[in-house]
Amino acid sequence: MTATIIDGKQIAADMRAELKTEVAKLKEQGIVPGLGVILVGADPASQSYVTAKERACDDIGIYSDDNRLDADTTQEELMALVDKMNKDPKINGILVQLPLPKGLNEAEILLAIDPAKDVDGFHPMNVGKMVVGEETFLPCTPHGVIQLLIRSGIAIEGAEVVIVGRSNIVGKPLANMLIQKNDKANATVTVCHTRTKDLASHVKRADIVIAAAGRPNTITADMVKDGAAVIDVGVNRVEDASKKRGYRLVGDVDFEAVKEKASFITPVPGGVGPMTITMLLYNTVESAKRTNRKA
Ligand code: NAP
Repeated sequence: MTATIIDGKQIAADMRAELKTEVAKLKEQGIVPGLGVILVGADPASQSYVTAKERACDDIGIYSDDNRLDADTTQEELMALVDKMNKDPKINGILVQLPLPKGLNEAEILLAIDPAKDVDGFHPMNVGKMVVGEETFLPCTPHGVIQLLIRSGIAIEGAEVVIVGRSNIVGKPLANMLIQKNDKANATVTVCHTRTKDLASHVKRADIVIAAAGRPNTITADMVKDGAAVIDVGVNRVEDASKKRGYRLVGDVDFEAVKEKASFITPVPGGVGPMTITMLLYNTVESAKRTNRKA
């Protein structure tokens, strides 16, 4: 079997087009969704993520309030900015780009964000709501994975899902979302990590494998059941002298070999990656709609 390659770029573009239409409709009612963005310091990767997020907002008509602060910004200054955004009716979502420079207390900042504007879905209150299945903001990368599955027509209900990785931003929320009692979930989920005995024996059972380990070749073809769907969240740099920048990006899955066994597979880049920002836009639009419902 040769797998269908899941085109994350196309699915993300489809979703962004849908969001653009929704934003235009909201504008007719006088509502402009707004995202407050805070970047502290000059980390090049963070700068390029934030620029991509701001551009994506612009493309679909979301107002973005961009704040690029010096690396020596104090905790008090940052807390004051978050407080200002919490009170600003033009801002529906607040994004603090992580990691923050050393010396700043990340947990305190995330806790200070109004849960009603926590479009990253990292506030403990929203994490709790997700676990008990209440309406909340779902964290962007795991929600993007679920959208890729749904929009590719892969059955989640009743499926045996094996997730490799248990981080707070990918593995744990994804497991929680997939075991919810609703028709977009209802999966049977196993979460593996570095202390899992015999990773292959778990992965071999899976109808859906989700790799989020951050290590190339964690999932090899011998570990994958014929016809499984394989979603690769991993983004890893491997040296490549043929590339101008000296490296290329690969996922956690041995793509070339696994695609000959799987039914569906995501490439890296071009799979999960484009969905993450899209789901941030989705949450910001959702937040504007909720605020309006309450008003
Ligand atoms: P993380 O915090 O480093 O967590 C990695 C998880 O994988 C840990 O739970 C670890 O187990 C587990 N793990 C590592 N090696 C393993 C192995 N050989 N066997 C089994 N489990 C293993 O990483 P993360 O933040 O979740 O990110 C994971 C990957 O996804 C990274 O490559 C990251 O760049 C990528 N990512 C991509 C996006 C996107 O938008 N495309 C977004 C977020 C993350 P322990 O808990 O036991 O250490």
